[in-house]
Amino acid sequence: MKKIIISVVALAVIIGLAVLYKQRAPISGFSKSGGVKIVTSIYPLEEIARNVGGEKANVIRITPNGVEPHDYEPTPEDIATLQSAQLVLVNGAGMESWSEKIKPDLEKQGVKVLNLTQTISLSDMIANSKGQIDPHIWLNPQIFQKEIDAVRDALISLNRSNASVYTENAKRYSMEIATLDAQISEGLKSCALNDFITTHDAFEYLAMRYHLTPHGIVGFSPDEEPTPRAIAELSTLARKQKIKHILVEPLGNDKFAKTLAKEAGAQTLTLNPIEGLTADETKQGATYQTLMKKNLDTLRTALSCK
Ligand SMILES: [Zn+2]
Repeated sequence: MKKIIISVVALAVIIGLAVLYKQRAPISGFSKSGGVKIVTSIYPLEEIARNVGGEKANVIRITPNGVEPHDYEPTPEDIATLQSAQLVLVNGAGMESWSEKIKPDLEKQGVKVLNLTQTISLSDMIANSKGQIDPHIWLNPQIFQKEIDAVRDALISLNRSNASVYTENAKRYSMEIATLDAQISEGLKSCALNDFITTHDAFEYLAMRYHLTPHGIVGFSPDEEPTPRAIAELSTLARKQKIKHILVEPLGNDKFAKTLAKEAGAQTLTLNPIEGLTADETKQGATYQTLMKKNLDTLRTALSCK
């Protein structure tokens, strides 16, 4: 009997603690340090938020490591995290199908939602033949700099007392990106090839910036499936132009790229669309800049640059 009473008491304590935990535990993963609470969808936006916000920002990315971010669906915990933010950064242009649905609710709760593609002028944007906007704007460092400015302005509007910190951070980071842009321009100045083939159409903005011609096996979303005709046409193009490398992604499906590489007598090499990070990249302290420099190395090999 005594044992049963003790068990009942123990159970009551556990339930009580669970209720208390539910009430008291933070619903989001924000650390205790101060600064504007920012939640980002994809990795490049986390990178901008951390660099511009510095110590005056508290940044969480909801798309986990190792997950291909196109069509990522937020979990209930992600929703709670989004609701506890002051600023939510999304890329837009179809990159996060959930964001338009959740935006009115977040705004009602006083959360500022910044859609970065909407801050870029239309003349900088690329669309496909169906009129869909290409979401991969961050792969052009000059547009990336415009995103830095947009995040700086959003942070200043939320936290005017730290305006000078955000302005200084944005200026420093933007200068680093300008240096990166110059390095890529220099590295791609003298190449035998101009065309490159990738698993999905993620590199149009990068190609436009450095005057290259990209060919995606599928369109803006890596989930699409290519037709056998598309593979055959790219195989013909690769053989005709002596393209020896088919460029694959760390997080994407490389099945069709491997098929094409086999048909075209080419090898696969990694070109990173920097949409998300792998666990290894995080461990190695990868940044937008280190990953773009790796992309430069890949392109220099694939395009036979001097
Ligand atoms: Zn993509």
